[in-house]
Amino acid sequence: MGKTDVLISEVGPRDGLQNTKAFMPTEYKKRWISAAAAAGLTEIEVCSFVPPKLIPQMVDAAEVVAHAKTIPGLTVAALAPNYKGAQRAMEAGVHKLTLTISVSKSHSLANVRMTPDEAIASAKKICDFRDSLPPEQRPKIESGLSTVFGCTIEGVVSEDEVVRLAIASAEAGCDEVGLADTTGYANPEQIRRVFKKVRAAIGEKLGGAHLHNTRGLGLANVVAALEVGVRTFDSSLAGLGGCPFAPGASGNIVTEDLVFMLEAMGLRTGIDLERLLAIRELLAEGIPGELLYGYVPLAGVPKGFVPASGR
Ligand SMILES: [Zn+2]
Repeated sequence: MGKTDVLISEVGPRDGLQNTKAFMPTEYKKRWISAAAAAGLTEIEVCSFVPPKLIPQMVDAAEVVAHAKTIPGLTVAALAPNYKGAQRAMEAGVHKLTLTISVSKSHSLANVRMTPDEAIASAKKICDFRDSLPPEQRPKIESGLSTVFGCTIEGVVSEDEVVRLAIASAEAGCDEVGLADTTGYANPEQIRRVFKKVRAAIGEKLGGAHLHNTRGLGLANVVAALEVGVRTFDSSLAGLGGCPFAPGASGNIVTEDLVFMLEAMGLRTGIDLERLLAIRELLAEGIPGELLYGYVPLAGVPKGFVPASGR
């Protein structure tokens, strides 16, 4: 794979499946991850280490990680909501671990049964544990700040609180801080403003954008984030996803549409759009009846389209 301008982190196997009704058989998850990597995705969030009692879809997390780790060059990422989950993820040998820290106190309590400050304290404990491991076993740790742009329970979320928790995450030992529009509340102006504020506070530790398309502003928000220098985006094949604890928050931005937009704008993703589109068949088979989103998959690429990666 040549040089890329934008890193797309596929989160469908985690964020997507966490919100689907049907259980995707483990074999399909493995095939999906392999096919996504073969299409050129270099980072995939393959699962979350949550209690299977809460989210049965993730019962095979360790097995899925073990499979993903056999794929050369792939950064295997996972999410963990707490210390126990983080330990399981590190035991499984993930390369990157995202910790969810919700800025909204009500969402945080509903999602991980901790206040945001308790979640920061937990992140510190997790980072300390990570630092006690041999260097080759230490994953990169991302603080995934969620409900940054609004909360389905509390409504408006304080930007000062976002900045405060971003600084606290960095001080706790997290390598980077990503900002998530968990609920699909963000608008482009807000995206520019908040990313700039957080960069002013933590500089290069500012990570990527995790956006949902709940109100149709997903790609507009990507462009806004690009304008303020963000170069890492989470997205989900077929736009699967949501948050089981944030009612009405459905749909990550669609990887296929995101790749098309970036490549059309001259930004190289390193991803082969045709191969990416072909993976939808596998999803349709693995989770029958689940709604698959996306405009490019329906309309096709425009006549004469030449992706930036192929120029
Ligand atoms: Zn999400």
